[in-house]
Amino acid sequence: MTETEKEIKEIVNEDLFFNLLEGKAHPDKKEVEEILKKGEKKKGLSLSEVSALLNVQDKDLIEEIARVAGKVKREIYGERLVLFAPLYLSNFCINDCEYCGFHRRNPHPRRKLSLEEIAEEVRILLRMGHKRVLVEAGEDPENNSISYIVSAIKKIYETKEGKGEIRRVNVNISATTVENYRRLKEVGIGTYQLFQETYHRKTYERIHNGPKRDFMRQIFAHNRAFQAGIDDIGLGVLFGLYDYRFEVLGLVSHAQYLERRFGVGPHTISVPRFRPAPTVNFSPFYQVSEEELLKIIAILRLAVPYTGMIISTRERGEIRERAFEIGISQTSAGSRTTPGGYSASESSPQFAISDQRRLDEVILGMLKKNFIPSFCTACYRSGRTGERFMSLAKPGDIHLLCRPNGLLTFKEYLEDYASPEVKELGEKVLSFYLKKVNSGLREKTEELLKRISAGERDLYF
Ligand code: SF4
Ligand code: SF4
Repeated sequence: MTETEKEIKEIVNEDLFFNLLEGKAHPDKKEVEEILKKGEKKKGLSLSEVSALLNVQDKDLIEEIARVAGKVKREIYGERLVLFAPLYLSNFCINDCEYCGFHRRNPHPRRKLSLEEIAEEVRILLRMGHKRVLVEAGEDPENNSISYIVSAIKKIYETKEGKGEIRRVNVNISATTVENYRRLKEVGIGTYQLFQETYHRKTYERIHNGPKRDFMRQIFAHNRAFQAGIDDIGLGVLFGLYDYRFEVLGLVSHAQYLERRFGVGPHTISVPRFRPAPTVNFSPFYQVSEEELLKIIAILRLAVPYTGMIISTRERGEIRERAFEIGISQTSAGSRTTPGGYSASESSPQFAISDQRRLDEVILGMLKKNFIPSFCTACYRSGRTGERFMSLAKPGDIHLLCRPNGLLTFKEYLEDYASPEVKELGEKVLSFYLKKVNSGLREKTEELLKRISAGERDLYF
């Protein structure tokens, strides 16, 4: 076995995964309760413990997993939910991924936004109230070169509308070189997200064609990003491509590997499920139900408690709201999944969206469940990334900052963008949580809120 194959095994040890899943096929109640007691301590779970939870079928026990996960989520992240919007730059792509609407056989016309078109998309997002975007583009070195991506990111940061500006640009582009990651780092990206899609190698190689078919290039991309100095990275799989239990072990094992190798685990894990798209004929043999998705989220919350978790508008509003309670800490809202989608383009989307609500409607739903809708980017802006972030997140102290920062950015939203209904309920939720801000920061938070009411923006701890 080559060195590289050995290192792949450190992330995905297929024999180990199958053995664990088989060995823990019928966990008894007592074992599950012991694992949950450990999970409650917020120190994470071993692969063997994760395997046992993944095999739980009993409805009451699954409810119990969700209850403990919800407690851990509240203790680490508090009640804030961070909002963002995807921003598709280009659907040119040289790959042929069977599950994606941008696959190269799709005969629909392609579109790549010019810098002015990007600015127009950003202005629309700013008028909605967004402060964070996730840049997306297909892989196409000619059309979507790294220079184009870098210029697009600069344009996004430069674009202003009223009092609005994008304060954090996260990036989801195909696996690339250390040199290209360095250029992303230099232009000031937040998190670099790259999904493995599936950790099952044979499946991976069967459903991908083009440069992305290289399993090794994909699985070690985060290492290259770390080498380039990007210390907030995001993992994910596309549920539906292979047995979800295997995929969850892959995610947890990958997180543990990054922690061992770089001293920093992933900043986020995303949990998308396969969704149909025009010209995509893929029928997922391993379709994951909504109940299973919620179980996955709860188990991940316990397994990697310090890692943010993201759900997108692929899911229905009701499922998203339940997911917020048991583990999700970030979510997209008001999304369009095609280049130029916010300015109403006709081009074909990457995947279908289930939650079609406007940002303001999503926020109203969050307020009704007593969450703080947050547009916070404070950690990134004050250099609390990578290890510095983890040193606060791991002991569960980050919520002490998330709460006041969430309130400050939500106050901006209430002042500048909220509908009357959101404004009324939002002010009540804000006053409720202001009383719960850590006493050392409460007075200062009150002062900053007043300054926001008086017109100042971008105040944070
Ligand atoms: Fe291209 Fe990414 Fe879609 Fe694959 S998943 S076809 S690489 S845009
Ligand atoms: Fe995220 Fe940091 Fe803001 Fe909390 S304080 S929401 S971790 S940026």
